[in-house]
Amino acid sequence: MKKNKRYSIFSLLRNARNYHENWAEAWRSPEPKPSYDAIIVGGGGHGLATAYYLAKEHGITNVALVEKGPIGLGNTGRNTTVIRSNYLWDESAAIYELSLKLFEGLSQDLNFNVMLSQRGLISIGHNQHDMREIRRRVNAIRLNGIDSEMLSMAELRELVPILNLSPNSRYPVIGGSIQRRGGIARHDAVAWGYARAADDRGVDILQHTEVTGFRIQGGRVEGVETNRGFIAAPKIGVAVAGHSSVLAEKAGFRLPIESHPLQALVSEPLKPIFHTVIMSATVHVYLNQSDRGELVMGAGIDAFNSYAQRGSPMILEDMLAAAVELFPIFSRVKMMRQWGGIVDICPDASPIIGKTPVAGLYFNCGWGTGGFKSIPGSGFVFAHTIAQGEPHEIAAPFALDRFTSGALIDEHGAAGVAH
Ligand SMILES: Cc1cc2nc3c(=O)[nH]c(=O)nc-3n(C[C@H](O)[C@H](O)[C@H](O)COP(=O)(O)OP(=O)(O)OC[C@H]3O[C@@H](n4cnc5c(N)ncnc54)[C@H](O)[C@@H]3O)c2cc1C
Repeated sequence: MKKNKRYSIFSLLRNARNYHENWAEAWRSPEPKPSYDAIIVGGGGHGLATAYYLAKEHGITNVALVEKGPIGLGNTGRNTTVIRSNYLWDESAAIYELSLKLFEGLSQDLNFNVMLSQRGLISIGHNQHDMREIRRRVNAIRLNGIDSEMLSMAELRELVPILNLSPNSRYPVIGGSIQRRGGIARHDAVAWGYARAADDRGVDILQHTEVTGFRIQGGRVEGVETNRGFIAAPKIGVAVAGHSSVLAEKAGFRLPIESHPLQALVSEPLKPIFHTVIMSATVHVYLNQSDRGELVMGAGIDAFNSYAQRGSPMILEDMLAAAVELFPIFSRVKMMRQWGGIVDICPDASPIIGKTPVAGLYFNCGWGTGGFKSIPGSGFVFAHTIAQGEPHEIAAPFALDRFTSGALIDEHGAAGVAH
């Protein structure tokens, strides 16, 4: 539905009777123009948000967003929707907190309900080492002005009565922390909301348009080769997650990225029973209950590199064993669906945002297992970087050259459990 169009109850009824055949398209499907002021490659959340902020914040509206399939069916439509900003290092805190703040106003900004639910995100500890690490993180996060609190056993019991707090379990829970502003949002709605709002501002969303190469002259990018022909632009931003190294190779350089499968699964729907998000880095699982009642679960990546959008059974088995250990009440719940995505992981588990060795060509990648939560913030700073030709101050520490300067931002702990 186009946002400016008014729909009466009668038109809603009429459309329902017509099997929704007469709805106006939420975004146009234009033919590609020969050239644009900027091209964004990748119609996941990061690409769509970048296109939207280019138009909204920088007045650059002659933009094509080029996506090889339908939008939002990469990792953006495959993730477990956890959002939070409780990262250890200052650089990460800045970008994830910017993102969370943008999330907090996103439904209003896009005029599209992204179903943000700030139900609190709890990390639990099972031994003294876990608790020391959790406390260190809580302190660091608070020093950056971001909400984070330690939780006693009594508080944990009150917040999650169904959590197994028995001292006799294999790895007993002994405490935890919470970011109360953390939670979940609807992943599809984030993609659709950005797409609709970008289209409204003039961005051409070109679905089923695959970038097969870059035209580069004298070290400067001139456009993209696609299955629908050549499209010219002096500025190109690439946000293709697990396929980043493939596209970098087409542009003649290498990225320090490994692509791994990461899988998730959902259960049959249950009545509301579980009102937060919980993660344990030790028994290795995280869970939340979706608005449809399904338990949504994830854990870690498959250790091997692959472009297959599934995952191996061992990870599933470990994930479910951990889930049942924490929540024996779920032991007879049926699992309904399982899937995987291809995540792009940097050696320091932080993203790459910014310039590449090719002038005019910018990359945004390496979000790995945790880039859903960063979509608004990342799109905001990437759009600035492309528009100005210089990194946004929040994006600057995430430049590609940190792998030669050694200024790494090690967030392995933050992504110890994939989310
Ligand atoms: C199972 C799973 C669970 C996760 N859980 C969470 C979570 O709870 N919280 C969180 O914050 N993050 C989570 N993530 C990570 C998060 O999903 C990703 O970091 C994020 O969605 C990446 O978004 P993106 O826009 O960069 O990539 P994508 O959404 O993958 O979009 C990239 C797009 O590029 C397109 N593309 C690729 N090659 C080309 C080409 N040659 N030409 C044109 N288009 C191309 C693809 O078709 C795709 O649509 C999870 C990931 C997975 C797989």
